Amino acid sequence: MRAMVLDAWVRPLQSTTVADPAPGPDQVLIRVSACAVCRTDLHVMDGELTEPKLPLILGHEIVGRVTALGTNVARFAIGDRVGVPWLGWTCGECQFCRTGRENLCADARFTGYQIDGGYAEYTVADQRFCFAIPDAYTDAEAAPLLCAGLIGYRSLRMAGDARRLGLYGFGAAAHIIAQVARWEGRQIYAFTSPGDSEAQSFARGLGAIWAGGSDQPSPEPLDAAIIFAPVGPLVPAALRSTERGGTVVCAGIHMSPIPSFPYDILWGERVVRSVANLTRRDGEEFLRLAPQVPVRTRPLSYPLDQANQALDDLRAGRLQGAAVLTT
Ligand SMILES: [Zn+2]
Ligand SMILES: [Zn+2]
Repeated sequence: MRAMVLDAWVRPLQSTTVADPAPGPDQVLIRVSACAVCRTDLHVMDGELTEPKLPLILGHEIVGRVTALGTNVARFAIGDRVGVPWLGWTCGECQFCRTGRENLCADARFTGYQIDGGYAEYTVADQRFCFAIPDAYTDAEAAPLLCAGLIGYRSLRMAGDARRLGLYGFGAAAHIIAQVARWEGRQIYAFTSPGDSEAQSFARGLGAIWAGGSDQPSPEPLDAAIIFAPVGPLVPAALRSTERGGTVVCAGIHMSPIPSFPYDILWGERVVRSVANLTRRDGEEFLRLAPQVPVRTRPLSYPLDQANQALDDLRAGRLQGAAVLTT
């Protein structure tokens, strides 16, 4: 099959031909039709996430059809459309797995990181970690739901019932979760790179009542903020704009160092927390909710062999929506 392969850190992906994967007993073989591109893929390529398998096929927002079944597979049949997220396997036995926090399992394995992912014509995935995809979406529309949507959804839940919600970094995740937040009756304040008027008008088009640069204070105190951009100085910036008792949620898997800040911007029972990975329950809840809103994604399609271009465009902040590789 054709695949885009990461051979070593800080190198472009190589377009190459590799052996078709074969499903293990609990796995399904999937003909990939769409795989969204995530900022986490850049963190893996750049060596900021330090435990990838190498060589590696990136990609953890995969949509495709089942073409073969492992011997234990009963949840899916050949021809079913499935989605594969970042969480690829957990131990099922540790204290985290047993208490609904499988996202924190120390032995968890992740798609497109420790397991080959979806920047390829085929992939295999553990059936227990795959999702059915709602009929309302095409393959390319559904792919960004699987990480941008799921992690965004978990982050939104961690923001509690905040009415005035700040979103720092208005890319794939924010463009999805802003729609859910609006549907829930919240007010969105969108913070983009200073001077990025295109991203600001994109945010306003999705219902943000205010959009401006992240160097500006919020025009109203925020009840919570979600930081999607991997930029540590946004943590004190968001705290300064957040009301007493409010939470600042760091949604990314990697962030540049957070500068020190005075205690008085945390005082008043403000909370800073991260969101790590996802649980299968997050996925099931969000994929039920998305068609009700309805969440509309904006997939920006690239052919599989243009993966490096898609990654460059994401890195440069040129995307209003979610890059999706199609095969
Ligand atoms: Zn992701
Ligand atoms: Zn576990």
